[in-house]
Amino acid sequence: MQAAGELTAEQITAAAVASIRASEPDVNAFTHVAEESAMATAREIDRRRSLGQPVGELAGIPVAVKDVLCTRDMPTTCSSNMLRGYRPPYDATVVKRLREADAVLIGKTNMDEFAMGASTETSAFGVTRNPWNRERTPGGSSGGAAATVAAGNLPLSLGTDTGGSIRQPAAFCGITGLKPTYGRCSRYGLIAFASSLDQVGPMAWSVEDAALLMRIIGGFDPQDSTSLDTPASDYVNATAAPDVRGLRIGVIRDAIDHDLLSPAIRHAVELAIDVYRDAGAEIRDIRLPHSRFGVPTYYVVAPCEASSNLSRYDGAHYGFRGAPGDQEMADSGPLAATYCRTRAEGFGTEVKRRIMLGTYALSTGYFDAYYLKALKARRLIRSDYDAAFEQVDMLLGPVTPSPAFRLGEKLADPIQMYLCDQFTVGANLAGIPAISLPGGFTNDSLPVAIQLQGPPLGEVPILRAAAAFQKATDYHTRRPGR
Ligand code: GLN
Repeated sequence: MQAAGELTAEQITAAAVASIRASEPDVNAFTHVAEESAMATAREIDRRRSLGQPVGELAGIPVAVKDVLCTRDMPTTCSSNMLRGYRPPYDATVVKRLREADAVLIGKTNMDEFAMGASTETSAFGVTRNPWNRERTPGGSSGGAAATVAAGNLPLSLGTDTGGSIRQPAAFCGITGLKPTYGRCSRYGLIAFASSLDQVGPMAWSVEDAALLMRIIGGFDPQDSTSLDTPASDYVNATAAPDVRGLRIGVIRDAIDHDLLSPAIRHAVELAIDVYRDAGAEIRDIRLPHSRFGVPTYYVVAPCEASSNLSRYDGAHYGFRGAPGDQEMADSGPLAATYCRTRAEGFGTEVKRRIMLGTYALSTGYFDAYYLKALKARRLIRSDYDAAFEQVDMLLGPVTPSPAFRLGEKLADPIQMYLCDQFTVGANLAGIPAISLPGGFTNDSLPVAIQLQGPPLGEVPILRAAAAFQKATDYHTRRPGR
């Protein structure tokens, strides 16, 4: 549309800003909207184009960025009081690549504090609401990134996925979300939650758009020591003429037969099986016997890594510093008292819970029983996937046990919140790529989703199969209120 010159970058950006203004009072998807710099970027792109100068692949396209990614010209808060107002001196590599592609960065999206959560309710900037139903959560932790795309404000956003935070909000909001293979997208400038699990990825209106964004943000980065130095795959081409004939798709039996799986989601997966079978894929049943240990394993590994990563927020290095009272100073000395006050006031309840869990599990005497045990379980979970991918090309299953739940419904019960992640954490623990696709609607018009998971570096076959699904269905084209 833009390349054809029908609309200027300025017009597109102005429309996105107006749309955000209209939905923000209800949805609250953003922690920061960078209207002025977005408009300036757009005008500059129009100027360059009018001079016949080359412009990037995303020229004039508004993109929103989860507030866990460093941006040098916007605050980067992780939706935490600990980093309120913090302005990083540099861009995350993925953000830098967006700018190089001439994307228009519209702002930073709301999230669960430090990406810990599944509902965007733990944000210090207020909850984000699901555009499909304002009484429901958009999912989390990339809830803002999903909600702004679902609300139709803009076509693309960047999320991050440590245990499901791209796929679960994509599922709740009826959009497409890809968690790439661990190491495909640079983590440089991604504020760390659990470093061995964190991955950046695209959230979009369609598989094609997600593939395009993946092409821009993916690829080796020498500034991230875990970045994979593999040739870039042709993600976009994979979606061009999707064909699944002969593709071996494994249906994850353990997930389909799971007690907690809601009938609407089981139905969506069953319909997807039909779509693929009709398109010529070969469907098999697969078991992942250790998948039932996914949630307990993840909720040891992730808090352990978080407790280490978040130790840097001490009131000295970054952001907020708490002021201890005289008595606290006298009791513990000024340094310890400052650490304690800073963390007591700067972090919310869920972040504190994770730090305590992780510190406990890593402490002498408990390390073997918890952390080491979790690493062994992680290995078994990965082995299940390895065995599965000997038999099939990819796996099909649900993303979430239920459609978007009500705001407040699980806030008082962390275990219930953690159980939302049971079909997503496996891909993070194993480091494999996985995509969430709109797969239908409940009777009360809430989106439901299906998930495809593939072997390491299997983005291309996944995107191809995902594009085939979107060719055969129209769920991804629907927007709230339409
Ligand atoms: N819901 C999971 C958690 O709370 C996943 C979070 C994420 O992927 N960032 O840890």
